[in-house]
Amino acid sequence: MNLELSEEQAAVRQLAKDFVAREIAPHVVEWDRAESVDRSLVKKLGEVGFLGLTVDEEYGGSGGDHLAYCLVTEELGRGDSSVRGIVSVSLGLVAKTIAHWGSEEQKRQWLPGLTSGEYVGCFGLTEPGTGSDAGSLATSAVRDGDEYVVNGTKMFITNGTWADVVLLFARTNDTPGHQGVSAFLVPATSPGLTRRTVHGKLGLRGQATAELVLEDVRVPASAMLGPEGKGFAVAMSALAKGRMSVAAGCVGIAQAALDAAVRYATEREQFGRTIAHHQLVQELISDIAVDVDAARLLTWRVADLIDRGLPFATESSKAKLFASEAAVRAANNALQVFGGYGYIDEYPVGKLLRDARVMTLYEGTSQIQKLVIGRALTGVSAF
Ligand code: FAD
Repeated sequence: MNLELSEEQAAVRQLAKDFVAREIAPHVVEWDRAESVDRSLVKKLGEVGFLGLTVDEEYGGSGGDHLAYCLVTEELGRGDSSVRGIVSVSLGLVAKTIAHWGSEEQKRQWLPGLTSGEYVGCFGLTEPGTGSDAGSLATSAVRDGDEYVVNGTKMFITNGTWADVVLLFARTNDTPGHQGVSAFLVPATSPGLTRRTVHGKLGLRGQATAELVLEDVRVPASAMLGPEGKGFAVAMSALAKGRMSVAAGCVGIAQAALDAAVRYATEREQFGRTIAHHQLVQELISDIAVDVDAARLLTWRVADLIDRGLPFATESSKAKLFASEAAVRAANNALQVFGGYGYIDEYPVGKLLRDARVMTLYEGTSQIQKLVIGRALTGVSAF
């Protein structure tokens, strides 16, 4: 594995750094307090090409490899995890899944809008009664002529209130001769689909997280993504790559924690010298630095495996598990360096900790990642 970035990768990382400094950093506290990122940012993310990374230019994508995608994701996570999550879901879970599983017609219908930022996508898997055990979902899609009639409720859906298209997972086995869970691309304006914003989140407060209720929503059969009954495979393939994206966002959080801790430690004075002179403060900082490097290397390895067409799902779970726990540790250590000032939102580290915390929960909790890794190592499923 070559750890040198190519010229193109270095350029895209610089582009992301500049974008974050110009379009995101000045607004982070305001968006967090208002519980909403400025929606016009989505268009800007599309214009700069960040919503089309790894997607073919033929469908409006901006190409590039998965390492470039990780670099941009890391920088966005360093700037504001809410923004990072908007991209990870709309591009990472939705557009990339359409690019992989979609028919020519579906790609032409959705990809140019998603990659340009004209459309926002959301990923509807979790339900009130099924989170970790997603395969037991209860939302049903019953065939009626050339359509499916969908009923059910989806919970905690990132981008849910903003979305134009829902990548929805529903059970199709209520119709005789039909089976399993299937994936559908459902326009969010479909009659019978209502959305409610979930307020009061601990972190990622700038994201439009929603509950989606589907009551007799009619979806054309042509909106099914991938083969009937293979919806769970579609979801798992999306999440395998999605976990790399979460891991890259966590590297960004940990790096932001390191930058903030070093800056503060070299400015703040106690006992007649900067706190960087105190060995126990250096311990906090060096622990963060090691977490940053380890999380980044695990994440880049996943990108490298994907780009070389090799199996990557277990490595993606390892990266997500480690990087999410590392981001929580790093943000918590940085908060300690800041002392009482870390506890108020005028300083950046409290938000880093709040944002990091959910990374150990979504796209599979840390316990679920351990079961994925354990199954791969032992051949025994302990779910
Ligand atoms: P549960 O599954 O009820 O788990 C509760 C606890 O039990 C956890 O500690 C878990 O690790 C543990 N547990 C469960 N089963 C086992 C087991 N077999 N062995 C050991 N421990 C176990 N979902 C989407 O579909 N789309 C989204 O865009 C999306 N965005 C989200 C955004 C936010 C801010 C949040 C909070 C959640 C989001 N989710 C989304 C849902 C998320 O993926 C789920 O919350 C997550 O999978 C956990 O499910 P749960 O909350 O139902 O917890």
